[in-house]
Amino acid sequence: MNPLRTLILAAAGNDTIRHLVATAPVSRDVVRRFVAGETTEDAVAATKDLVAAGLSVTLDYLGEDTTDRAQAEKTVQAYLELLDRLRADGLADRAEVSVKLSAVGQALDERLALENATRICEAAEKAGTTVTLDMEDHTTTDSTLGILRELRGTWPWVGGVLQAYLHRTLDDATALATEGSRIRLCKGAYKEPDTVAHVAPHEVDLAYVRCANALLAGDGYPMFATHDPRLVEIIGERARWYGRKPGSYEYQMLYGVRPDEQRRLAAAGETVRVYIPYGEEWYGYLMRRMAEKPANTALFLRSLVSK
Ligand code: FAD
Repeated sequence: MNPLRTLILAAAGNDTIRHLVATAPVSRDVVRRFVAGETTEDAVAATKDLVAAGLSVTLDYLGEDTTDRAQAEKTVQAYLELLDRLRADGLADRAEVSVKLSAVGQALDERLALENATRICEAAEKAGTTVTLDMEDHTTTDSTLGILRELRGTWPWVGGVLQAYLHRTLDDATALATEGSRIRLCKGAYKEPDTVAHVAPHEVDLAYVRCANALLAGDGYPMFATHDPRLVEIIGERARWYGRKPGSYEYQMLYGVRPDEQRRLAAAGETVRVYIPYGEEWYGYLMRRMAEKPANTALFLRSLVSK
């Protein structure tokens, strides 16, 4: 792994740096570029701005790796409150939620995660929107796909995520490319061993294109989560080749990342969904975004020392 990335990921676990980031007045502006805020109100405000700009959104209440039932319950309550607001504010046709099963108890007890995810799906149904289950490290893939299968038995609109870097993913993509199946394809964000994942970036990119082809060739609704300009272009070409019309697939990008490109694609008639993270647990998320892109880190470090 590149040394800067290693350093930033180490900072993600450092309390002193966390305190510095949370309290430095200017760094708050940089945090706000990538995280919508800490409250439901902040999340709804960011959603309204993006929807007004012609974009769709998926909202993630930050927090993961919960080993505490009370914390898992707090996360469920946050989603229930948010879904209620999306319904009340008439946003549910353009805004859905993304859920990390580890944040609702997967590491404690798989049944608890299923029960909690079920409560969130019930609230999403009432609100008139959908849920996508984020994918985490490879030790959770089977469990997460199993829970996805169970939830889809009741709510076929529950979406899943596949990570192109995993060797298994082409098979998963082929199996899941069925009618009504909503699948987000991303490169994959976790540090995985080469026994289970492609490690070289160009291998990951090639795998992404193979999986994208499998999803586009099938009958499901693929959701292409990437900021990579080359992949965005290839997906556009492949979608046309498979006779896919805009609206039969979508692009997804993170809040604050390539916002001009998000708007350009939407203006060209594509469906573009922005992943909006919010909540008190923003620090680890922010550090991962920094680790992905050195230019973001430079921007961020400058903001810590300048006024
Ligand atoms: P990268 O390989 O990071 O970058 C490729 C190129 O994209 C860069 O060279 C640059 O040209 C451009 N680019 C990338 N970042 C920026 C930037 N900040 N500013 C400007 N240009 C940039 N991962 C999971 O493991 N599980 C999930 O559930 C999951 N959900 C996701 C949901 C969404 C909507 C998105 C967008 C990502 C998600 N990810 C998830 C993260 C994903 O796996 C990647 O780690 C992340 O998207 C970075 O990969 P990339 O495809 O954007 O390209």
